[in-house]
Amino acid sequence: MSSIRTARLMDGTAPARRMLGETAAAAAEITRRTGTAPCLATVLVGEDPASVTYVRMKRARCQKAGIRSRHIALPAATTTAELIGTLAGLSADPDVHGILLQHPCGPHIDERAAFEAIDAAKDVDGVTMRSFAAMGFGLPGFVSCTPGGIMRLLEEYDVDPAGKHAVVVGRSAILGRPAGMLLLARDATVTYCHARTADLSAHVREADIVVAAVGRPRLIRGEDVKPGAVVIDAGYNAGNVGDVDFDTARERAGLITPVPGGVGPMTIAVLLAQTVQAAAHQLGVRER
Ligand code: NAP
Repeated sequence: MSSIRTARLMDGTAPARRMLGETAAAAAEITRRTGTAPCLATVLVGEDPASVTYVRMKRARCQKAGIRSRHIALPAATTTAELIGTLAGLSADPDVHGILLQHPCGPHIDERAAFEAIDAAKDVDGVTMRSFAAMGFGLPGFVSCTPGGIMRLLEEYDVDPAGKHAVVVGRSAILGRPAGMLLLARDATVTYCHARTADLSAHVREADIVVAAVGRPRLIRGEDVKPGAVVIDAGYNAGNVGDVDFDTARERAGLITPVPGGVGPMTIAVLLAQTVQAAAHQLGVRER
């Protein structure tokens, strides 16, 4: 009799809910002790529907967690200089504790220059060079939210990256690259794959942990997944489809994230947790 094995699902919704509960409790404590609720400023350039939805979701979660949000909607024609002016203003505003610049901002904006206008102490989305360097050196600092969410998810499912071969597919500054850096900081042996990688399948076949961070539906094929591997799918493509061919990959993986409901909820949970940490620091509240 043949039996088809299926991987255990790495659900992100339950751990994210737990994290949000802890964040709400910490936000309430800060508000009680200082009379000021933590505040996240969200900045959106233009009206890209997906970005509008993401910002709305993040603000709704803030409200539920007792975090104030201040939304700044800028017209699509905003220049880099104008955007930098807005971000510098928020960086200097003592009533704002965290800043999220929703991206992509549009091809005419120099995003790197804009990110660098965010005060490192308020960089709760982990996008500045300073935060990036802290991740690279394994020093304390704000992590990029999606890679941070991936690391929390691994912890939740008792996956210790030490000594494991992690293959990260994708090398963007907000996702693939920092995900690899955080895995390296936890003693994984890390391989990066990208659009110029000669034989992606050969690398994936060697992976104890696969992180898919590409934005190509079902790029990672189940037949390439090493039996028992941990498969983290950060991709999100039209039609609720990830970067991993879920149906075939789950027959070989040991653990696998669903899309949606895996990495996505953890990303927002990290953003809010870091906002409350930033507020605590700026308001001089020590953790008990
Ligand atoms: P990105 O900036 O477009 O980067 C994509 C990366 O994939 C690049 O490094 C690119 O390589 C690589 N790539 C493209 N085609 C490839 C191929 N055929 N084989 C191997 N690598 C390939 O995208 P991103 O912002 O990192 O986002 C990636 C995905 O994650 C998207 O689906 C996005 O929606 C999703 N995402 C999810 C969350 C969440 O909260 N769950 C958050 C952010 C993003 P090169 O560098 O060589 O071009």
